[in-house]
Amino acid sequence: MKLSFYGAAQEVTGSKHLLTTAKGKKILLDCGLYQGRRRDAEKKNAHFGFNPREIDYLIVSHAHIDHTGLIPKLVKEGFKGPIYCTPGTLDLNKIMLPDSAHIQENDIRYENKIREKEGKKLLEPLYDQEDAEKALAMMIPVPFYTDVDISDEVSLRYTENGHLLGSGAVNLTIQDNGSIIRLCYTGDIGRQTNSMLKLPQPFPQADYIICESTYGDRLHDDEVYSFHEIIKIITETCIDKKGKVLIPAFSIGRTQEIIYGLDYLNSNFQLPNIPVYIDSPLSTKGTGIFKNHLELFNDEFQEFLKRDKSPFDFPNLRLIESVDESKALNESKEPCIIISASGMMEAGRIKHHVFNHIEDPNCTVLMVGYCEPSTLGGRIAAGAKEVKIYGELKRVNARVEYIRSFSGHGDYKEMITFLSCQQIEKVKHIFLVHGDLDAQHAFSSHLNSAGYKFVDIPAPGTEITLS
Ligand SMILES: [Zn+2]
Repeated sequence: MKLSFYGAAQEVTGSKHLLTTAKGKKILLDCGLYQGRRRDAEKKNAHFGFNPREIDYLIVSHAHIDHTGLIPKLVKEGFKGPIYCTPGTLDLNKIMLPDSAHIQENDIRYENKIREKEGKKLLEPLYDQEDAEKALAMMIPVPFYTDVDISDEVSLRYTENGHLLGSGAVNLTIQDNGSIIRLCYTGDIGRQTNSMLKLPQPFPQADYIICESTYGDRLHDDEVYSFHEIIKIITETCIDKKGKVLIPAFSIGRTQEIIYGLDYLNSNFQLPNIPVYIDSPLSTKGTGIFKNHLELFNDEFQEFLKRDKSPFDFPNLRLIESVDESKALNESKEPCIIISASGMMEAGRIKHHVFNHIEDPNCTVLMVGYCEPSTLGGRIAAGAKEVKIYGELKRVNARVEYIRSFSGHGDYKEMITFLSCQQIEKVKHIFLVHGDLDAQHAFSSHLNSAGYKFVDIPAPGTEITLS
C-alpha cells in the first residue's frame, strides 16, 4: 500500500492525502481548499497533483473548507466515486459547499470585470453551484462507531475527535497482500475542554497514524475561558458607555459556541438586557444544523437541555438576514452585541461593522478566534494604532479584547492525550500533516519524548510504502 501527501503537507491548509491499495484502488482522504494569500491560493488550487478520474473513493474527516473545499472541483474534473462523511458533516456540507461555490463565482465575476477592461482573457471559477450540488448528491453518511466496508479491501469507522460538529477521525482497516494494515487519519483534533461537543474519544489501535499538528509547538492558556470576562466587557461597553460589542467569529462552530454561552448566561439571569444580533446568514443556517444534531453534544450540554429546550435561542437574540437589515444595524446607535463573520475580518459583514465603529472609543472589538497576522483581525489583535479598511485609514480608538482560550484545535499536550489510547509499541509510524514546519518539528520532539520513535514530516508530493 502507498501513502502520498498532496496538501496540508508542511502547512496548515488544503488537506489531501492519497492511499493506493495493493489492488491499485485509490482512496483520497479529504479534498481541502488551500486558503491563504490570493496568489498562492490560485496556484495551489488550480491543480490537484493527481488525476481526479483515477480516484475511487473519497473519505472526508469534517466540514471545514480547508478539508472539503475542492470536492466540487474534484467532481467537475471527473471523480465519480462515493464520498463518505458523517451525517453531521453531510448536513454542514450542504450549506458550506454551495456557499463556497458562491464565493468562488463572486470572486471571479469581480476579477473578470477588471480583466475585461484590460482586454485580458476571462477566467472561470474553480467550480459553481451546480458542481457543489453534484458533489452533495454523491455523499454517503456513515454514523460514528459503525464499520462500513467500502470495498473488498477496506473497512471504515469514524470515531469522534471533538473538533467540530460531525468531525471524526478516519479509521481504516485495509487488506494488504494477505496482511492487515490499520491506519488512522486523525482529522483535526479538538481540545480536552469543550463547552458543547464531546471530548476527543479513543480510537482503534493503529499501525500508522496521519496526525494533525497545528499547535504542535504550543500550549493554550491554562485558564478555561470565562464567560464572566465576557459579561464584564459587555457591561462596561453596552451599559456604561452605551456602545456596541463586535464579535468577529467563524460562521460554523465558534458562532454557535458563543450563542450557547450567551444562552446559558441568559438562563442564569447573568446576561445584561441588551440585544444580541447574529449578522451572518450562513451562521443562522449553521445554527439550524447544530439544533438538529443535539445527540453529538456532551453530558453538560444534555443536562442544560433538560432546563432549556432551545439552547441556541433566547429572547434578546435577533437574526439578521438581508443586506438592508445589516446596513440598518450598522447605522443604528443602539447599544448591542453583534456577532458576524468572517472570523479574521478580511471579508463579510463584520468588516463593515468594524469599518464604522473602530474609531469609536465607546465600542469594543472582542476577538475570540485565531487571526492570521497579515489579516485585518491579525493587525488589530497585534495592537495596530491605525488600520486600512476598504482603502481608508482608520484610527483604532475602540477597545480591543482578545480571548485566546477559544480554540478548535488541541495544543500539543492535548493531542498527545488524544493519542494516549494507543499502545505505543504497536504504532509503526506517525506522519505529521496540517501544521507549519516549526510546529511540526516541535511536535515531533514532543512525540519522541512521549515514546513514539518514528515520526515523519512528509513534504508535499512524498510517497511512502506502508506494509
Ligand atoms: Zn478543521
